[in-house]
Amino acid sequence: MTDHRKLFIPGPTEVLPEVRAELSRPMIGHRFPECAELIGSIIPLVQHMLYTKNMIYLSTSSGTGLMEAAVRNCVRETCLCFVNGAFSKRFMQIAESNGKKTIPVEIDWGKGFSARMVEQALEQHEVDAIALVHNETSTAAMSDIYGIAGVMKKHPEVSFLVDMVSSMAGVKLEIDELGVDVALASGQKALALPPGIAVAAISGRALEKARTVQNRGFYFDFLNVEKNYAKNQTHITPTIPHLYAMKKQMELIIDEGLENRWQRHHQMAERVRAWAGEHFEVFTEEGYRSETLTCITNTRNINISEMNKKLAERGMVLGNGYGQLKDKTFRIAHMGELTLADIEELLGAIDEILGH
Ligand SMILES: *Cc1c(COP(=O)(O)O)cnc(C)c1O
Repeated sequence: MTDHRKLFIPGPTEVLPEVRAELSRPMIGHRFPECAELIGSIIPLVQHMLYTKNMIYLSTSSGTGLMEAAVRNCVRETCLCFVNGAFSKRFMQIAESNGKKTIPVEIDWGKGFSARMVEQALEQHEVDAIALVHNETSTAAMSDIYGIAGVMKKHPEVSFLVDMVSSMAGVKLEIDELGVDVALASGQKALALPPGIAVAAISGRALEKARTVQNRGFYFDFLNVEKNYAKNQTHITPTIPHLYAMKKQMELIIDEGLENRWQRHHQMAERVRAWAGEHFEVFTEEGYRSETLTCITNTRNINISEMNKKLAERGMVLGNGYGQLKDKTFRIAHMGELTLADIEELLGAIDEILGH
């Protein structure tokens, strides 16, 4: 494929050739022992990556499906929704459209949530769950998940639902220590899988809660997942090609070494932030800047689609701003399998195009 553009967009991300090759294996039955073995081999690797013993749900859906699953299973009545961008807004809309009461806590786009903000909101409102987006991909704001987790420990009766769609597998997230009840992600972001599979770590407390929640539906019912989990099976036909690919990718992630992986993401983030500060401005508030992508204010008013046309000639593509931030900002993803060398190649090309 000569016309492939290397993806510096925040999902889908580059998938390694050996992982892509796994998608073309001959099909097996999802009730065959081979399939249970396959699922059973992936789960401990995911648990290792997430520092957890929680149930791992490999969902045949995109990440949004699991956002819906989180609210359907773990919001009995009212959910406090922390909104600082497009995806956190979506999380709230998903809760509303599933008939849940929502209370928004809104801050400006580009800002992140601190422990204090969550603490104050919980003092003011009686809720049975909170919905938080750890890494708000529309603005590249990463909220203080460890600080917030400290606050949530004082509210064990409140379900802690966290979208980690664009941070999981790019940042160290110790799920058991954090006490997150539903930690969910899409495959096609920092996990570097083709789109079509999503992952969640679901706590025992979340399963207990689900037993008390009405109208969980069928497809995403955590109790259906739990029933089949002990047998390494799924209650629906899963995306078997993705399971093969995921097994390979998880092995590669473990081979790289988790600390190396977190460090690689950190180094790429630092490099892009320094470059952005030199030539533009980082859009996101300091202290909350994401490790997996950078959102850059288009201070020089460059034409982003023209930039992407010129980058395409060099076999690359970056992300425009999201929604209302389109053309006002642009985003460089540094997640998944990208390396510092890839980042240097991209920044070098942009410098050349802009005549820096
Ligand atoms: C990409 C993204 C989503 C949506 O994921 P899909 O896999 O497209 O459903 C949700 N939340 C965040 C933070 C994202 O970056």
